[in-house]
Amino acid sequence: MTRPIDVVVIGGGVAGLVAARECAQVGLAVTVIETTDAVGGPVAGHVLDGLTLDSGAESFAVRGGTVASFIEDLGLTDQVVAPNVAGAWLHLPALKQADAAMSVPLPKAGVLGIPGSPLSDDVRRVIGWKGSLRAYADRLMPVLTIGREHSLGDLVKKRMGQRVLDRLVEPVASGVYTTSAVDLEIDVVAPGLNRALTTAGSLSGAVSALRAGAPAGSNVGGLLGGMASLPAAIVAALQRHDVAILTGTTATALARSGTDDAPTWSVTVTRQADAAPTDPAAERTTSTLTARYLIIATQGAQALRLVNPLGDQFDALAELDWPAPTAVTLTTLVLDAPALDAHPRGTGVLVSADAPDVTAKALTHVTAKWAWVAEAAGPGRHVVRLSYGRAGQPNPTDDLSDKELQALALHDASALLGVPLAAAAVRAFARTEWRDALSPATLGAPERAQQVREAVAATPAIEITGAWLAGTGLASVIPHALEAGDRIRHAALGLTITGPDE
Ligand SMILES: Cc1cc2nc3c(=O)[nH]c(=O)nc-3n(C[C@H](O)[C@H](O)[C@H](O)COP(=O)(O)OP(=O)(O)OC[C@H]3O[C@@H](n4cnc5c(N)ncnc54)[C@H](O)[C@@H]3O)c2cc1C
Repeated sequence: MTRPIDVVVIGGGVAGLVAARECAQVGLAVTVIETTDAVGGPVAGHVLDGLTLDSGAESFAVRGGTVASFIEDLGLTDQVVAPNVAGAWLHLPALKQADAAMSVPLPKAGVLGIPGSPLSDDVRRVIGWKGSLRAYADRLMPVLTIGREHSLGDLVKKRMGQRVLDRLVEPVASGVYTTSAVDLEIDVVAPGLNRALTTAGSLSGAVSALRAGAPAGSNVGGLLGGMASLPAAIVAALQRHDVAILTGTTATALARSGTDDAPTWSVTVTRQADAAPTDPAAERTTSTLTARYLIIATQGAQALRLVNPLGDQFDALAELDWPAPTAVTLTTLVLDAPALDAHPRGTGVLVSADAPDVTAKALTHVTAKWAWVAEAAGPGRHVVRLSYGRAGQPNPTDDLSDKELQALALHDASALLGVPLAAAAVRAFARTEWRDALSPATLGAPERAQQVREAVAATPAIEITGAWLAGTGLASVIPHALEAGDRIRHAALGLTITGPDE
């Protein structure tokens, strides 16, 4: 006889997999459903010119230590690697000539580009004396202690001036979050900065305090063989616990029956015929899964659509000002380019939206950043990855054929690395589209997440998790999903212990 399902997890990204593991570890029968044909979402890999590479996320932030301890729990600690300490560069309009661009190293002692030492040489190279002196005025201004700042960009501009915002913070914000700093919520993207600002009495003081309090070493880590090892290791753990993972399966509707103390969830799912799993035109079968508990770990729009009919508490959520996810196009080039052995721009380049000569928003020199990739590639062979797409703007690659995009990527890589790269240098090219994957941490995110939490708390036996609530990035997603899974397993164990059938 088939074992009844205790928990259905909708969405097989990292959040869904992590929450599923929390439940499965205590013996609950868990089923994960995932609409695409692979789990892991943008934590994925591909093989190009014989090299195994990341095709989405390539690292994790070490802040908080949660990702590292989760990785340890999975037995992957031996695979954790740190990137090259050389750091990234900035590509900006020149300070004096309006139509020229310049490349400079990103100053070291900062947080999201905000300088801890506004007068230091590396900061002055980016914003000039005028910009540095304006930024230094932050040290002399009083701090408003009533209320707190929300917009990262507004705070930076107010305290340190336009040049710091445009030339240091915006390129980092758009490189990491694809969003303008003005639209980013400080408490999500720089946890602790507001508090440190009040204590230190200045923004640069707050930045220095945050950096002093951070653990020594790199603030990001990666995994040997690529970040896709992470979802693969979670899947292996889930398989050991007999978790069913149904890919190519979409949750289309939810219903709840039973009592608040003993609810039953019915999840309507459609599944592509096994004979043609990737053919969208193929016939789909519809069935219903029932379970005592439900974890929704899809992207925001899908989650809101699913919960909307469940009760009044969810009605207002759809009306909130949810940001649309940003579509990101990644291009990966494998190149024969011995001139890149010298790592001319450190580990990569963050590009100002005002740069006159480049369309990409960021470039990662993968073989400069990760020693394990360089070793696999050998001398003279290089991997560079360029990303395209900024929040609130049409993606500039939308109308480009693969051939046109390859030419654009090669042009941008030449300009950003300062090394002419000919078409004949290209050994392999890949285009990866992440259309619905990046939920920006925009203004009002904590308040919106709080409203979702309240609606969830008013509904027994359900949890919702994922980057759209937790904040983008594994360091936010994994702790949020662990907590969601933990609440469900506590509720389930409570029922098991006190329920009438036990
Ligand atoms: C290009 C790119 C690079 C990134 N780089 C980094 C990085 O270097 N470091 C870092 O920490 N973070 C990075 N991120 C962010 C990080 O990858 C995400 O924050 C994280 O993977 C989100 O996980 P999630 O489970 O919340 O969402 P997702 O991975 O999006 O998972 C949601 C899942 O739900 C599925 N789904 C949706 N609707 C349904 C349905 N109705 N039925 C069934 N399944 C459904 C989706 O197919 C998807 O698999 C990057 C993101 C992108 C796009």
